[in-house]
Amino acid sequence: MSTTIISKTCPKCGKVYDKKTYSGHGKVKDSDRYEYGSPIKKCPSCGHLFADRDFHEIAIEGIRKQDEKTFKTSDIVMALALIGAGLACVFGLDYAAGWFFAGLGVLIFVAGLVEAPIKRKRLEIEKAASEARMQNPSYVAALRAIGVYVPAKYLPKDSVSDAGHQ
Ligand SMILES: [Zn+2]
Repeated sequence: MSTTIISKTCPKCGKVYDKKTYSGHGKVKDSDRYEYGSPIKKCPSCGHLFADRDFHEIAIEGIRKQDEKTFKTSDIVMALALIGAGLACVFGLDYAAGWFFAGLGVLIFVAGLVEAPIKRKRLEIEKAASEARMQNPSYVAALRAIGVYVPAKYLPKDSVSDAGHQ
């Protein structure tokens, strides 16, 4: 299977601060690059603070529908194709290959069931971390400085228009 490696570099010193491997080659879709976490990064080489817009605060943007599903659509398609190929082999009397393919298909489903609660837990932890970051006014100010939309509930009280409440 071919892969694409994306090296992210610091906008100030140009050193690589993160390297990610994606399956397939060519352009990696933004939706595949989507990660949960703070979009504010600090360069380990020069200490420069900058934005990495692949990262998204759960407290602001929530969790994507696709990340809440137990099975990815692509996994279901792959699993059904393997089970189908397996049954075709069984009917073609190639039992060994048949059970092999069908077994792989079933494994994908089992892996999905095992992974789902782990993934859910990880997202819960990241959500709490995100909420905690958003309680820090200087963090919120830094987010706004790089152009991230911040909902009013996280803005400092004195910056929110409060006319009529006095
Ligand atoms: Zn740097």
